[in-house]
Amino acid sequence: MSNPLLSEWKTQFTTPPFSTIENNHFLPAIKKSIADSEKEIEAIKANKSEANFENTVEALEGSGKMLSRVSSVFFNLHSAESNDELRNLAQEISPILTQHGNDILLDEKLFEKVKYVHDHTNLENLSDEQQMLLDKTYKGFVRNGALLSNTDKKTLREIDEELSKIKLDFGNHILAETQQYEKHITDEQLLAGIPEYALTAAAEEAKNKKKEGWVFTLDFPSYSAVMKYSENRELRKEIYTAFNSKAFKADKLDNRKIVLEIARLRNQRAKLLGYPSHAKLILEERMAKSPEKVKTFLSDLLEKAKPVAEIEMNRLKKFAFKEGADFEIQSYDSSFYSEKLKQSLFNVDDEVLKPYFKLENVLDGAFETADLLYGITFTERFDIDKYHDEVKTFEVKDREGKHLAVFYADFFPRSGKRGGAWMTSFSDQYVSDGKDHRPQISIVCNFNRPSKTTPSLLTFNEVTTLFHEFGHALHGMLSRTLYASLSGTHVYWDFVELPSQIMENWCFEKENLDRFAKHYKTGKLIPVKLIDGIKNSANFMEASATMRQLSFGLLDMAWHAEEKDSTFKEVTELEEKAIDSTRLLPKIEGTNVSCQFSHIFQGGYSSGYYSYKWAEVLDADAFEYFKEKGIFNPDVASKFQKLLESGGTVEPMKLYKLFRGKEPDVKALLKRAGILNGK
Ligand SMILES: [Zn+2]
Repeated sequence: MSNPLLSEWKTQFTTPPFSTIENNHFLPAIKKSIADSEKEIEAIKANKSEANFENTVEALEGSGKMLSRVSSVFFNLHSAESNDELRNLAQEISPILTQHGNDILLDEKLFEKVKYVHDHTNLENLSDEQQMLLDKTYKGFVRNGALLSNTDKKTLREIDEELSKIKLDFGNHILAETQQYEKHITDEQLLAGIPEYALTAAAEEAKNKKKEGWVFTLDFPSYSAVMKYSENRELRKEIYTAFNSKAFKADKLDNRKIVLEIARLRNQRAKLLGYPSHAKLILEERMAKSPEKVKTFLSDLLEKAKPVAEIEMNRLKKFAFKEGADFEIQSYDSSFYSEKLKQSLFNVDDEVLKPYFKLENVLDGAFETADLLYGITFTERFDIDKYHDEVKTFEVKDREGKHLAVFYADFFPRSGKRGGAWMTSFSDQYVSDGKDHRPQISIVCNFNRPSKTTPSLLTFNEVTTLFHEFGHALHGMLSRTLYASLSGTHVYWDFVELPSQIMENWCFEKENLDRFAKHYKTGKLIPVKLIDGIKNSANFMEASATMRQLSFGLLDMAWHAEEKDSTFKEVTELEEKAIDSTRLLPKIEGTNVSCQFSHIFQGGYSSGYYSYKWAEVLDADAFEYFKEKGIFNPDVASKFQKLLESGGTVEPMKLYKLFRGKEPDVKALLKRAGILNGK
């Protein structure tokens, strides 16, 4: 029987033929396409002519197309429509792919050719995009140790293996801590304030555990409901402490040793590759470029945000006092009182807003925003094969009516879908043999489902999430590059959130909301009062929130920008030194950030946490340009379109300046966050 993953896709727009793909097709398809990719690479190596850009770098870029097609189908399904079988397969497939990737990067003969091209090509003969590809390819090898002696290469492999092992332990400890904790409550009186939805979930959890009453856990929805709404201060304190002391209890799940070891190994690894610190190595391929620049960025923001955050905190304390709090406000009180204060100030309850944000209307609003900005149109198609009935498919056309992309939208939670929202692609845009392969882009969310009687009504947070993911999708769909590895969202890490975050701004503009924020029953436009409420509440306690983000960014730099190995000897001491200046409330005994800072110790955010704020600076500054000229101004829009189309083919700072005419300025963000005018 033939394997549809390996045959030619004769579908409309050559989209994946989901309905014919079965789980048992994946492993053989991956293995076969790896073998194909190896053959392609062998051919590059066997080429007897002098190595040049086309026969080496471009040929390498063009290899493995089948593999990336198969693996993107696999991993997209693994995230959006998974089951035990796929999860087990992933355990098998992931190491094979890692091995294949390493085989390429460790191939000495292949690197010899790449290096020859790198050292001998006259850059004037290459376009900017080609120079980018050459640089990226060469650095990919070098940053993986290609220039090292054999002994050092061996050490590098050992460090990498050790790191991947202990990073796994790090995550497992946190998971175990999260899973083993429960707060079982049988007395309803202890639950005052906690909203119905959270109580239902807690009762459900109790039932699953065959217990009476309610069970609260350290999963985020359960935790945050207690922190925000529980009137029971003891309960808040207990759960706050449990949540923030994960993997910091001097038992077998303690992460302190691992944290120190990860920091040391990363430092050692960077030095081996010729960099003074891990941050220096990482930031070389970021818009920020150097640890010094990141540190200055963070400390400047800190200096500006702190006085405003202190004012916010004092106001909160006064409010709490009026509400009868006859004690010093602690960290486990702040969410509770700020939620109350927010309600009293703005009264923009989700339940009041939701009727104005019917999913279909919001989606149309996003499409129209894109049409007004970039002249692109979306037509729903019913003849495109999809992996689940609920997925919607659209054909996207450009201003001239030419096919631009296929767009998938998968909105509702299902048991096989992971949490959160994300944009992904089944195929990225690229050109080969003069043919422009248009991309297949998807967004996946977990929004409120429609019920029998009501359509899906989004919270305002879900509205901005939709626009955010749609912004990533536009980056992918509008792409006009030659090479897939430089197309769409394949840009530097601290630049990738600009296209997504900037789209969120259009959700706050009356001019735009008036197009789609209509009551689902009456068709009435959203009242101005509510729009004001949305805007003001978005900035509520923003300086305090900024301080929290800054504390994470500074802590990340403390662990990764230090050059001396001897710095990493005591977790608490290093942490206190790094974040003490960001504290607005006293530290709670027994808590620790580093031991559960998965973003930087397990995920890929090491030396990159600052990018959240960095991207906000970019999007605020970029949107200010739109605000100055009009949020649908065609000139500004067309400049921004150019930025989106360019993907990773141009250095982001250069690209940004082409759009804006100057470097980004932090002022726009401070103004938007209400920090600049000392509000
Ligand atoms: Zn994003």
